[in-house]
Amino acid sequence: MGYGPTPQRQPLPGQDGMARIDGGPTVLIETLARRVGDANIRTSTPVTGIFEDGPKHVSVHIGSGEIITAQKVIVSVPLRVAAATMLLPWAPTALIDAMRGTPTWMSTHAKAIALYERPFWRDAGLSGRVASRVGPLVEVHDHSGVDGTPAALFGFVGWPPEQRRNDPEGLRQAILDQLLDCFGKVAASPLELVVQDWALNLRTVTSLDLSRYADHPDVGPSLLRQAHLDGRVQFAVSEASDLSPGLIEGALAMGERAALGVLGINL
Ligand SMILES: Cc1cc2nc3c(=O)[nH]c(=O)nc-3n(C[C@H](O)[C@H](O)[C@H](O)COP(=O)(O)OP(=O)(O)OC[C@H]3O[C@@H](n4cnc5c(N)ncnc54)[C@H](O)[C@@H]3O)c2cc1C
Repeated sequence: MGYGPTPQRQPLPGQDGMARIDGGPTVLIETLARRVGDANIRTSTPVTGIFEDGPKHVSVHIGSGEIITAQKVIVSVPLRVAAATMLLPWAPTALIDAMRGTPTWMSTHAKAIALYERPFWRDAGLSGRVASRVGPLVEVHDHSGVDGTPAALFGFVGWPPEQRRNDPEGLRQAILDQLLDCFGKVAASPLELVVQDWALNLRTVTSLDLSRYADHPDVGPSLLRQAHLDGRVQFAVSEASDLSPGLIEGALAMGERAALGVLGINL
């Protein structure tokens, strides 16, 4: 049985010309990781503190107990998460306040991805794009790879975090019902349905984000873009950017800025 009222089929504006990264955004990370090398990467062990180490160095403490000494450190952890979970004894109160005062954009949201054998909706001339005030997916897009492989639809979940947490099975069923309503019977039997909920990911969201949902971030204080501890520590987090804060473009801009900073070129 379907979930809601009969969907209307019509063109939606502003969806032409969207670009995709061949292989998905993961390719960016995999390419960078290859260049950095496995021996230089630690996974599944969070940074627990960053400390001043003599006049020229910084020591980074990680969950495994390892301490890494460096001349320069780039912090690429969401600002509120860093302020809440890391020891940063060198950081002035104004900096910690600026970090706490900067919500992580979309950190309370969730996405659902339905994987299929093929992008069957295209056979009917459908783009895969849905706009809905009924939900549970408020916005759906064709998420397929190049040439439709893998075939996928993704949507932003409109249910608030608490409802998602309390009724994950109800959410999955409601998503399948909605996809059935919009795209027909095949859509209700995906190979896989993944709900990725950032409101449950404590490396992205903090209790502060969950207590008060934020609008799209404005450009934050310049303190977030400056180097600290005599140039030894800087941030490369999207929300710190003065270009597209909160978006991927902001993260890339801050990454470039921090990399140049390490090379002694300050923007
Ligand atoms: C649901 C959702 C939808 C979005 N949609 C869009 C969109 O359509 N377009 C767009 O441009 N942007 C979108 N964004 C925003 C975009 O994803 C972010 O702007 C971007 O990922 C920020 O990159 P970042 O490198 O600053 O931080 P992140 O990508 O958040 O990376 C921070 C990393 O730090 C890690 N970390 C946390 N704590 C520690 C610790 N103590 N030690 C070590 N590592 C730690 C985290 O696990 C994470 O991997 C969306 C975000 C969400 C959540």
